[in-house]
Amino acid sequence: MTGKTVVVALGGNAIRRHDEAGTAAEQIANVRRASRQIAEIAADGYAVAVTHGNGPQVGDILVRNELTKDTLPAMPLDVCGAESQGMIGYLLQQAMQEALRAAGLDRPVATVLTQTVVDGSDPAFERPEKPIGPFYTADQAERLRKEKGWRMVQIPGRGYRRVVPSPRPIALVEGEVILRLFSAGVIVIAAGGGGVPVIAGDGGAFCGVEGVVDKDRTAALLAGIVGADDLLILTDVECVSLNYGGPNREDIHDMTAREAREHLAAGHFPPGSMGPKVEAAIRFLEAGGKRATIASLDSAAAALAGRSGTRIRR
Ligand code: ADP
Ligand code: MG
Repeated sequence: MTGKTVVVALGGNAIRRHDEAGTAAEQIANVRRASRQIAEIAADGYAVAVTHGNGPQVGDILVRNELTKDTLPAMPLDVCGAESQGMIGYLLQQAMQEALRAAGLDRPVATVLTQTVVDGSDPAFERPEKPIGPFYTADQAERLRKEKGWRMVQIPGRGYRRVVPSPRPIALVEGEVILRLFSAGVIVIAAGGGGVPVIAGDGGAFCGVEGVVDKDRTAALLAGIVGADDLLILTDVECVSLNYGGPNREDIHDMTAREAREHLAAGHFPPGSMGPKVEAAIRFLEAGGKRATIASLDSAAAALAGRSGTRIRR
């Protein structure tokens, strides 16, 4: 062990891909690819904590809720989030145990179901903007607005969708447990989907709220908790680009936090996709992190070794 520590953040879209049906077998195959990369990183001498997105998976759970709501009570969003952490944590745990064994590493793996403390007066609660779950018709949307008080937005050409707030993560309720496991050499999988958002009530009890915490923001928080040197954010593109999607796209291999902030301000990294990743990288570096890397899931180990992806430094 060289003492290097890394938090690896896996994109939900890389596990439940848009171009696949979303079967268990497909998600297992994707999780195995990720796990082989993580095992390689562990073999390079890193202590690893893993977090992951859950957007597509929670979307599936919400569709299932919708289809069965006349026979079984639908579950609130916080319960759906916890369900997705269990599902993805299970798949990852199993795949990682297999990958570590294959790499000849004897390292325990455990998932910590995580609650993320958010502030009840976070301005995000006033303006929900994160679309989740199935698409609805105009009539259905109107009914859901009235019956459940949901905020609905129209997505041109596709119908209506529920939007929920995305409050900022303040702390992890299980932060201390995560740190103890991590310090004992456990590869911890934590804060899936950004963690279930909760607010502290009177007497210290926590209560789940309807919202989604951005997993990249929580990844930066988790990196602070375990004192990571590196934050590795894995997604479905090879690197960060300027003028992404345009004819004069320019791939970035290295940048400073200051350059990242300038490109962010210039609008190169949209909210809801690359924006939160770059912001998380900047926040991590400002809090004392050494290096943040944004790369594709399949190049994770190479990216951490500096041979692929985009590196951001102080
Ligand atoms: P994840 O599930 O990993 O969080 P996201 O879809 O939220 O995935 O973010 C990754 C996506 O960001 C990429 O698939 C890409 O289409 C998009 N993207 C937007 N702007 C950029 C940019 N400047 N450089 C690279 N990718 C970008
Ligand atoms: Mg995302």
